[in-house]
Amino acid sequence: MTSSSRSQQIPTIHRDPTTNRRVFIAPQRADRPMTLDVDGTGQRLDEYRHQAHCPFCAGNENLVPPEILRWPVATSEPWQARIVANRFPAVIDHRKHSKTRDAVGGTPAHGIHDVVIESATHEHSILAITPQAWRAIWELCRCRLESLEARKDIAWGILFKNSGLRAGASLEHLHSQLIAIDFIPPLIRSEMNRASKHPGLFARVIEEAAKEGRVLCELGNLVALVPNCPRQPFETWIVPSFDESCFHAASRTSIDAIADLTRLLIQAFERIEPSMNYNWWLHSAPFRHIRNDSFRWHLEIVPRTEHFAGFELGSGCHIHSLPAREAARLLKEAW
Ligand SMILES: [Zn+2]
Repeated sequence: MTSSSRSQQIPTIHRDPTTNRRVFIAPQRADRPMTLDVDGTGQRLDEYRHQAHCPFCAGNENLVPPEILRWPVATSEPWQARIVANRFPAVIDHRKHSKTRDAVGGTPAHGIHDVVIESATHEHSILAITPQAWRAIWELCRCRLESLEARKDIAWGILFKNSGLRAGASLEHLHSQLIAIDFIPPLIRSEMNRASKHPGLFARVIEEAAKEGRVLCELGNLVALVPNCPRQPFETWIVPSFDESCFHAASRTSIDAIADLTRLLIQAFERIEPSMNYNWWLHSAPFRHIRNDSFRWHLEIVPRTEHFAGFELGSGCHIHSLPAREAARLLKEAW
């Protein structure tokens, strides 16, 4: 398929009747630039390493769609972080764009796909930016999610980061993504259901972690802990110490704390393994959820030290070699 024929096709969503699994097919994404190596040799592609070609570097604003939000807010000052629409989206906002382009064999995938550009200069690690800027970025993301809550056509949103090639990143310039869609994914529905069936679930997760020495740090109403069932060595969760289901309703204290805790955690990761690849994602309640006092928003951070292989993909269960308490001990040493 040629690049121009791919660009004519809008993303579609497909549901597997046997598992209720959803798959988004977004042909355009095959054309996105890859600045991290894709042939597995560890060699980066030179073309995009230079600021002249990087779509996220200051000075190249014309290479990406218009700005949605920025920090600092005042346009008289140069931007240090900004949110723009993804040029290669997995979902399209059909309220803004018609569905006239070709939807090949599926339902057009409706939603928002943003990129959060986290630095104006060509940085790779969150540790390269100031703690103040990092706090402002979390607040920017909270504001963006808050603005989506008002939309009746959006059911749920996720903020996520792919850091490094093993974590699925295609561009090395520091960034995160935000996808908001018009349905609640089965995984989130299941987390919400478990929380409502088991009142006090998240409080018990924190209590048990404290009892077993798996709490890494407590800061401004948030707790960073190694869950009892990590999928990869050093998996960590950041959870509020009180019941709060939606991240976009979080206080400034919690926003500052999540910024500071993620910095401390990545610092610890880097001390254990320099340039550790990782994913994180924010689980927040759906925008219009049935009242659920037991669910808490939380950030799940999963280092990509080992591959997900046949057993993981085939069973949904994970195998690795590092017990949770040992991971917590090593992370506390590196903290
Ligand atoms: Zn750049």
